[in-house]
Amino acid sequence: MRPTEDSYRHKGLRKKLVDIIRAKGITDETVLDAINNIPRHFFLDSAFDEQAYEDRAFPIGEGQTISQPYTVAYQSQLLGIKKFDKVLEIGTGSVYQASVLAELGAQVFTIERQKKLYERNKQFTWLLKKYPSIKFFYGDGFEGLPTYGPFDKIIITAAAPEIPQKLLQQMKPGGFMVIPLGSGEVQQMLRITRTASGEFLEEKFDHFSFVPMIEGKKD
Ligand code: SAH
Repeated sequence: MRPTEDSYRHKGLRKKLVDIIRAKGITDETVLDAINNIPRHFFLDSAFDEQAYEDRAFPIGEGQTISQPYTVAYQSQLLGIKKFDKVLEIGTGSVYQASVLAELGAQVFTIERQKKLYERNKQFTWLLKKYPSIKFFYGDGFEGLPTYGPFDKIIITAAAPEIPQKLLQQMKPGGFMVIPLGSGEVQQMLRITRTASGEFLEEKFDHFSFVPMIEGKKD
């Protein structure tokens, strides 16, 4: 069962979590506010109430995880979200990252390759009411959403073995893609910018550990 109550205790734990993330180097106050505003325990079973506010990833079933809050904040900060940005997310998972982006004012399009995880979101009534603009898709993130693009920003929340070429084509000029690149245990965070003249620039950031981005859909 998902919890539905956001108590003072939860709010207090969340403030502490925000302090931890700030101490680790996140400086964008809009991102920190978004983390502070979203009851992360709603994204987990009520049995994991306490763990929801630890700064770590947590299993959500189907071999997948809800990303670590610091990682969510880090990727969100690199994306530099502006209100009404059209954002494509690869790897819906628990929908926590998508919610942070929606809280920042983005129009989020999110793709999940696992049907069970995709189906589960349809029963997440609090989320559907709170962020009605998030659009969910069951599909392969390597393909992106050509009919909905181009996007201002693209975020990949699984370890990408290579830069998905089809996604580069779905970026607007001036747009960013934030992608953890690598096929081993750890990946390096990259930010790719598509310049106005159509070139792609790469900036390299810290190392993280994501679950793998896998080609094709899973029933
Ligand atoms: N953004 C999520 C993180 C989930 S973990 C959150 O906030 O909870 C990564 C997710 O990416 C998993 O759910 C996994 O099933 C999904 N995934 C892996 N490869 C994918 C692909 N090719 N297309 C879409 N989703 C993919």
